Amino acid sequence: MKHRPLIVVALGGNAILKKGQKGTVEEQWGNVRRAASLLADLVGMGYRLVVTHGNGPQVGNLLVMMEAVKDRIPPLTMDIAGAMTQGWIGYMIQQALINELRMRNIWLPVVTIVTQVLVDRDDPSFSNPTKYVGPYYTEEEARRLEAEKGWVMRRDPRGGWRRVVPSPEPLGIVERNAIRHLVGEGYIVIASGGGGIPVVMEDGRFRGVEAVIDKDLAAQLLANSLGADTLLILTDVPGVAINYGRPGERWLRRVSLDEVEQYYREGHFPPGSMGPKILASIRFLRGGGRRAIICALEDTVECVKGRRGTEITVSTGNRGNHVKKLG
Ligand code: ADP
Ligand code: MG
Repeated sequence: MKHRPLIVVALGGNAILKKGQKGTVEEQWGNVRRAASLLADLVGMGYRLVVTHGNGPQVGNLLVMMEAVKDRIPPLTMDIAGAMTQGWIGYMIQQALINELRMRNIWLPVVTIVTQVLVDRDDPSFSNPTKYVGPYYTEEEARRLEAEKGWVMRRDPRGGWRRVVPSPEPLGIVERNAIRHLVGEGYIVIASGGGGIPVVMEDGRFRGVEAVIDKDLAAQLLANSLGADTLLILTDVPGVAINYGRPGERWLRRVSLDEVEQYYREGHFPPGSMGPKILASIRFLRGGGRRAIICALEDTVECVKGRRGTEITVSTGNRGNHVKKLG
């Protein structure tokens, strides 16, 4: 059991809520069951798994709900909303995965850990918040919220005014030892959902803060903390491209750390989407990981077998093995 390679899987937003869907409970279950079936395939192949996931749309919906009933029920804070989404999404993946495993006659336990992630109170993002969250407001409402709550409000390019929160660097997984222990005992663990609940240390005590940690960077920290073999980032494109969406677009198949670092410096990967996935992959390999894979959710099994998606390793004899289409 213990020597089976450990994969830390980061599920992107589309594993739970697909673009264009309303987000009904039925749709969410449909998506989660599909993802769970692919994860169960990996377990069937002999891998140990730790699963993490995004929570952007879910935390956004909770903030909209809180705003809508704020006159009757006092709004909660973002750290608590983060914990709620970890329970919500964790529960769905946990149940779906247990069911998929049982159908394959695999009797492994699956648990979700409410996970706090330590950030630095002096992280520069606290004085320069950039991450849009929650409902859209009019300018007048936005000014009032700034005065009343001390929120930072900005005009969202997509229309209307929204709150912006910091996106600090993850420094440590507070529940790391519990997760490691469970993995060592053969559990499949779902942890650090939504990038984890950001907490700072003040006078020897943890305190939740209103911020959003990038889920891919938190996944990398989790993966290195556990000594994982593979960081698998599942998203809604078949892999990583240079000149993405432009003339000269080339999809990367197998690529070395050096080469990817160069593309990263050249600006091929925008912040907020592919950028953090690449940065997470670079950090994972520098921190001792063996391979980072970025690929489409539906290609999970083929990607882990090395037949699809983009695979980044410290060195590869296959430099320049890039194609017009992945697959
Ligand atoms: P997730 O929810 O899975 O984290 P994101 O939307 O944050 O997904 O990131 C995936 C998106 O990154 C893709 O849908 C794609 O449009 C975008 N993207 C930006 N640059 C690239 C690139 N160089 N190669 C591939 N995809 C890219
Ligand atoms: Mg993302």
